[in-house]
Amino acid sequence: MKRTGYMGKILTVDLSEGTIREETLPDDVYRKYLGGMGLAARILYDRIPAGADPLGPDNMLGFLPGLLTGTGSLFTGRWMVAGKSPLTGGWGDANCGGTFSPEIKRCGYDGIFIRGVSPTPVYLYVDGHTRELRDASALWGLDTVETEAWLKTNAKTGGKKPKVACIGPAGEQVSLISGIATDQGRLAARSGLGAVMGAKRLKAVVLSGQKRIMAHNREEMKRLSRICNKWVRFQPPFVPGPMTALVGALLRILPAAVTQDGLLYKILLKKWGTVSMNQMSPEMGDAPIQNWKGSSRDWGFRKSYSSHPGVFSRRETVKFHCYACPLGCGGICTMDGKYPHTHKPEYETVLAFGGFCLNQDVDAIFYLNELLNRAGMDTISAGHAVAFALECYEAGIIGREDTGGLELTWGNSEAIVALVEQMVRREGFGHVLADGVRQAVHRIGKGSEACAVLAGGQEPAMHDGRNDPGFALHYSVEPTPGRHTLGAHLYYEMFQLWKVVRGVPRMPPMYLKGSKYRNPRRQAAIAAANSRFMTLVNCTGACLFAAFLGARRFRLFDWINAATGWDLAPNDYMDLAGAIHTLKQAFNVKHGLEPRDFKISDRALGRPPQREGANKGRSIDIEAMMTHYWEQFGWDPQTGKPDRQIMEKLGNAA
Ligand code: SF4
Repeated sequence: MKRTGYMGKILTVDLSEGTIREETLPDDVYRKYLGGMGLAARILYDRIPAGADPLGPDNMLGFLPGLLTGTGSLFTGRWMVAGKSPLTGGWGDANCGGTFSPEIKRCGYDGIFIRGVSPTPVYLYVDGHTRELRDASALWGLDTVETEAWLKTNAKTGGKKPKVACIGPAGEQVSLISGIATDQGRLAARSGLGAVMGAKRLKAVVLSGQKRIMAHNREEMKRLSRICNKWVRFQPPFVPGPMTALVGALLRILPAAVTQDGLLYKILLKKWGTVSMNQMSPEMGDAPIQNWKGSSRDWGFRKSYSSHPGVFSRRETVKFHCYACPLGCGGICTMDGKYPHTHKPEYETVLAFGGFCLNQDVDAIFYLNELLNRAGMDTISAGHAVAFALECYEAGIIGREDTGGLELTWGNSEAIVALVEQMVRREGFGHVLADGVRQAVHRIGKGSEACAVLAGGQEPAMHDGRNDPGFALHYSVEPTPGRHTLGAHLYYEMFQLWKVVRGVPRMPPMYLKGSKYRNPRRQAAIAAANSRFMTLVNCTGACLFAAFLGARRFRLFDWINAATGWDLAPNDYMDLAGAIHTLKQAFNVKHGLEPRDFKISDRALGRPPQREGANKGRSIDIEAMMTHYWEQFGWDPQTGKPDRQIMEKLGNAA
């Protein structure tokens, strides 16, 4: 039978036994779990035994494209890696753009799942005919850019240049904040899954496929692309970069908010990429400053000016587009001849090593971005670890005798760079920080937990829940905690789901900002809709930024039907997504985690409230929101655990 949308097979590899096996999956699995994150959830829930050591042979790592990847839909070229996270001890996933994702399908698979531990370093090579584990001893120790270059030049293939996902030294050294890189330094960074790959001694997955990826209704796919493209092309003339700070200041000052249309953010993204937020976010209170204890007062316009968006476009030599992306928010930059080809830092990285550490040295940020991408280490977690160390130093918990002489004062870019270099090499005080903040607290002790801001063991992203309580809630309730890509109040406004999905909260054109803090039940309903929709986004390989265009412009539901030939309504897909989300939560419970423990640290909730700045006086009633959120999915409202009854009702029971 000809399959459309998906390939109908997965590949399973056992590194301990050295075996590689192809499995055909029933169509029913795709109808229920779609692909990408959903397929990963079903397989990993079933096949990773309870209590498995994340760094041991029983853990599995899945590499998956999205259901829509390669079918002709736009913005759907993201791939996902999933497994048990060594950082949180529960469900872990990370996704990434670039060009790797369609290659998995071109090799004939909807997922490649790897278990076991290899006795020696290996890489997995797959094309349409060949599937083998090859010796990677010569690659061990190379950084991600060097590894990819070596494999593209030296790996024996059927003739076509392969696509490569690999780890760098951070993954090899089993750093719990390491990720997996493709496309010369784009990182699937979160959840510490690079460490799982390192522990398995799997240096890379190298793919070179030729298979066709089919869509059920090509004409409809093209029609949907035309609708989407029309909005992507719309681009008015532009104001200078520093003017974005003024917009941020206005958003801070006004007592009322206009419900955001994501078209505005698309315009910024197309012009500058995510660095368009470098000044706007701190001004409006969206950016956590100085390890969450500072405010917009500490990182005002004059300080953030060093990293205004124009600084980055001046160094950009060419735009970077992920596969099937008409927008191209990425960029390739040059660093004064040192690195002629370096990925433009993202907003998260700029803030993590900028305002979060009170560091105005933008050259240092460019350098750290390249250093960490090559090492394969998460820039958000690394920035958190550094800021945590700066605060410990300020508080006298650590001193020069601990840091090997480094003077870890706020904004000291030389010391920050030296410290990150040590983290990458696991040397000196860098070793203490190389596994993230939770491990650093264990290693330092002496009350250092007072300087740590975490959600379930994961360092949260550079968006402040005191400004948008939706971030605080998603950081605290998602099966992958601390994640900024799964929802926020602002995201909900831009998704405009109420225009196509029945029964979700409607947004008025304007509202009083204070209302976001007063109605936990409504916030929970908004967050639950976000979680369901983002589950679909992550099942299909779609980009969050495309979803910001709004449900009538980026027609995800219609695209799934056109690609697969299914005929489901948006609410049917939202129900499927709810079941997948529940399965991920059940994964965490199966592995002994308590959902309540994912609550983000008090400091990030405004406990106590800040005395100045954009988020002055704000405090988040997180417990009430968490309870109502769990109710939305039919989980126990006190514990957040799905019971057997709800698993059976959703068709999730094993
Ligand atoms: S908008 Fe940016 S992140 Fe999204 S697919 Fe395009 S280039 Fe990749």
